[in-house]
Amino acid sequence: MGQGASQTADPAGGAPSRLGPLIVLSGPGGVGKTTLVEALIGRNSLPLRRAVTATTRSPRPGEVPGLAYHYWTHAQFREAIAHGEMLEWAEVHGVDFYGTPRSEVDGYRARGIGVILVIDVQGAGQVRLLYPGDHLSVFVNPPAFDELRHRLEGRGEPEASINRRLETARGELARADEFDKVLENADLAAATDALERLIRDEFTRRGF
Ligand code: 5GP
Repeated sequence: MGQGASQTADPAGGAPSRLGPLIVLSGPGGVGKTTLVEALIGRNSLPLRRAVTATTRSPRPGEVPGLAYHYWTHAQFREAIAHGEMLEWAEVHGVDFYGTPRSEVDGYRARGIGVILVIDVQGAGQVRLLYPGDHLSVFVNPPAFDELRHRLEGRGEPEASINRRLETARGELARADEFDKVLENADLAAATDALERLIRDEFTRRGF
């Protein structure tokens, strides 16, 4: 990762304001990224929010629109891309589109809030190109590959969907070394501690 905190020019001509950290968290589906991020945000120890991203997939039972995701049609998604409203986007599992609306990120960072993107490795690759030196990327590893199948089965997904996700996961695990940091999610509290330390260091690096 590059060096130096990014700054925005202050239109009033005063001291430049600092941008809150941009944190990219990736890892195979089922590894517990969302649970980890919710646990960290629940601690209230740092000014952080998770960007609510957009997807064309259907909500799973219990997922609340606008909280888990913004659920868009393919047409809405294409329009948002065409209007330059997406910070990044990717076709995940070869079926659905997923992407981060800029409105979920830019205004918060300008107010000094750290924004966490829980996105796939393709999206992480786009952020790496677009924001060199201006983000921290973290890959979350499962303690063992078999653990992923257990966690996906626990969500009650159909077998074909589980197999497709495991195939995607194999490809993702092979790309862990493209990330700034890798952490293992064997124990939720320990992984939350580790993530909190990394993000606290990123705030410090940016002069907060
Ligand atoms: P799921 O369908 O299990 O919620 O998510 C499937 C994958 O898409 C996960 O790896 C998740 O992190 C990723 N994902 C969710 N939102 C986005 C996004 O906005 N952009 C990208 N590139 N990936 C996303």
